[in-house]
Amino acid sequence: MERIHNLYLHVPFCTWVCKYCDFNAYAVLEGLIPAYVEALAREIEVAADALPVGAIDTVFIGGGTPSLLTADQLRRVMDQVHPIGLAPDAEVTLEANPSNVTSEQVDGWLAAGVNRLSIGVQSLRPDALRFLERLHSGPDALAAIRTARAGGFANVNADLLYGVPGVHLTGWLETLEAVLAEGVQHVSAYELTVESGTRLGQEVRTGLVRMPGADDQLEQYWAAAARLETAGYAHYEISNWSRPGFACGHNLAAWNYQPYLGCGAGAHSMFRLKDGSTERSWNVKGPHAYIKRIGQTGRAVDGMENLTLQRARGEAAMIGVRLLDGTSAAREFPVQRQELVGAGLLLEVDDEVRLTRRGVELANQVGAAFLS
Ligand code: SF4
Repeated sequence: MERIHNLYLHVPFCTWVCKYCDFNAYAVLEGLIPAYVEALAREIEVAADALPVGAIDTVFIGGGTPSLLTADQLRRVMDQVHPIGLAPDAEVTLEANPSNVTSEQVDGWLAAGVNRLSIGVQSLRPDALRFLERLHSGPDALAAIRTARAGGFANVNADLLYGVPGVHLTGWLETLEAVLAEGVQHVSAYELTVESGTRLGQEVRTGLVRMPGADDQLEQYWAAAARLETAGYAHYEISNWSRPGFACGHNLAAWNYQPYLGCGAGAHSMFRLKDGSTERSWNVKGPHAYIKRIGQTGRAVDGMENLTLQRARGEAAMIGVRLLDGTSAAREFPVQRQELVGAGLLLEVDDEVRLTRRGVELANQVGAAFLS
């Protein structure tokens, strides 16, 4: 098995489950967090013994809302990561809800070794935050960025959502502008998508909510892309922009189809075997079941699948085309490449392919072509 240098840690608790959320997240079960933290630490220890892991280049602590952990709980988890060996310039990201970003927490996170903070701003508009059922306000979100930066975080991402019903182009760009004024190093902007199993999905199905049309969504997307590029942020992945040197190393590894170990409830792992094939596994989703399984065996794997070399190459191409500078991961697919170039969705540059503007808009279809 190839060595693993990327670690994902999942914390599935949130204060409130937002109506559009399709992540493995549960309304906070306060009493459960201490047991969960112990289980997570145990899983990391067992997995690091059993698998070729390290040195670690990236750690991504995501959720859920991992900023609900106390500084001590976060340190408990990171104390289990450090013995694996962190590369000298390892990137350690924590996802944070604006309401949890206090100067005490910031001190604790930095002391635990976190060096990149990803703040779930989503929007600054009261109507949008209400619609999304986010519990913070716009001023809370801006204050969170300021507190993080003043406290010593030199690498801050703001997560934003566009295409929120009721927010028109001007309102969206006002949010983006105010976030940029805070000097973040990275922006992720995602379209609000409707997942069928969510409450938003139900509201759309029953006609209670009408989502903006595709043209409005694209208008907001390209307007943001133009503004971010003017402001000096490189558009390096479909939904991600960064100042030079601040692209997210953890996500880049995933887009480059590098193996990763995922620990925590519902976390997925991807391993590359010596023959080039890929193995994927996933943990049991519920936090109660996860804690129980870890207590019994130190592992919580709920399923796994092996991908043939051909399928793994297809996935690598599907994911790799999301990188806007181009990818060589599609080189084994001359037929698909030719068709996609012919359709005006890809450009070929030597061994690499790159999405055209239309290709960016239809990236899911482009990616899917490599699996056929
Ligand atoms: S805070 Fe994030 S993870 Fe938690 S419920 Fe809301 S969208 Fe989902």
